[in-house]
Amino acid sequence: MTGFIPVNEPVLDGNEKKYLAQCIDTGWISSEGPFVREFESRFAARVGRKHSVAVCNGSAALDAAAAALRLGPGDEVIMPTFTIISCASAVSRLGATPVLVDCDPKTWNMDPAAIEDRITERTRAIMVVHLYGLPVDMDPVMEIAQRRGLRVIEDAAEMIGQTYRGRPCGSFGDLSTFSFYPNKHVTTGEGGMIVTDDDALAERCRSLRNLCFIPARRFVHKELGWNFRMTNLQAAVGLAQLERLDEFVARKRRSFARYMDLLSDVRGIQLPVASTAFAENINWVFGIVLDDALEMDASGAIQRLAGQGIGTRPFFWPIHEQPVYRRMGLFLGEKHPCAERIARRGFYLPSGLALTEEQIARVAESVRRILA
Ligand SMILES: *Cc1c(COP(=O)(O)O)cnc(C)c1O
Repeated sequence: MTGFIPVNEPVLDGNEKKYLAQCIDTGWISSEGPFVREFESRFAARVGRKHSVAVCNGSAALDAAAAALRLGPGDEVIMPTFTIISCASAVSRLGATPVLVDCDPKTWNMDPAAIEDRITERTRAIMVVHLYGLPVDMDPVMEIAQRRGLRVIEDAAEMIGQTYRGRPCGSFGDLSTFSFYPNKHVTTGEGGMIVTDDDALAERCRSLRNLCFIPARRFVHKELGWNFRMTNLQAAVGLAQLERLDEFVARKRRSFARYMDLLSDVRGIQLPVASTAFAENINWVFGIVLDDALEMDASGAIQRLAGQGIGTRPFFWPIHEQPVYRRMGLFLGEKHPCAERIARRGFYLPSGLALTEEQIARVAESVRRILA
């Protein structure tokens, strides 16, 4: 027993300090500094997109993306119920309505086959969210979107460095978004990015990020935006992180392969899917779902692991079961059995980039112990 193992710990031992020192030495600490544009252009190149707009976090990226599409009252956006609140709030804050689909029990991603049934004459967009390490099956999603004339917002927050059939995640949406929270493959502390190939949408995101200032007369506004700007300090860290993305992806894959080796014979738990026909898991987090036969649910397991010095996180809570939306009278009576089940039986183990072999061994041992 050698101390608490946190659920996430980032790795910051590349050029982060050097680039941050440059910010301080030159006095460029706001969003006007040169690292912001450098980080934007390197990130766009990595994902293969024409434009990128750095913002202050991944939730803000979703807010700006939804607003850029001018979603509003009466509009519907199809999205998974099993996701972070940011996806739904980006849509519902504009007065538009999230329309939810259940997830796949193995990959935990939204089921593309469930999308078409939920399309109405009010549907404007599909919000795809790639979860926990595996991309959504994009071919059927893009086919439906094209045929039905729908926009695609792609939340690729957990997929930095991931591909779908060899093509980068984040290259599929009319607008695609990323987060640089410290548990993502690239971190800026807090941060986010919107990428697109559409000149007008990119311009609109830039404007929304910066309070919708107009060039003609500063402090005169024809629309309401936000201050979603990323600072030069954040971008400096992001650039240093991005330089090591391939190494980070390889490091996570090694850690997860180790977890798989150590846990594959443990009964009563479902482990992540290592690969699908279109992608190898990028292992954002190492999720576990407890079998229904076990009396213990995720909160019981989380509590017991905490008692052994192991940090964990529960899975997302389904959007259709969120008290805030229930209170608004939304999603009443909706049932999405897979999301409801994994929300109660799923959690993830320490999954950060700084995780050591010894820590993984200790975590696996503790998982065995609480299940014995
Ligand atoms: C992390 C995350 C976000 C939110 O990003 P923040 O930077 O924390 O606001 C959005 N969507 C998904 C799928 C995420 O994992």
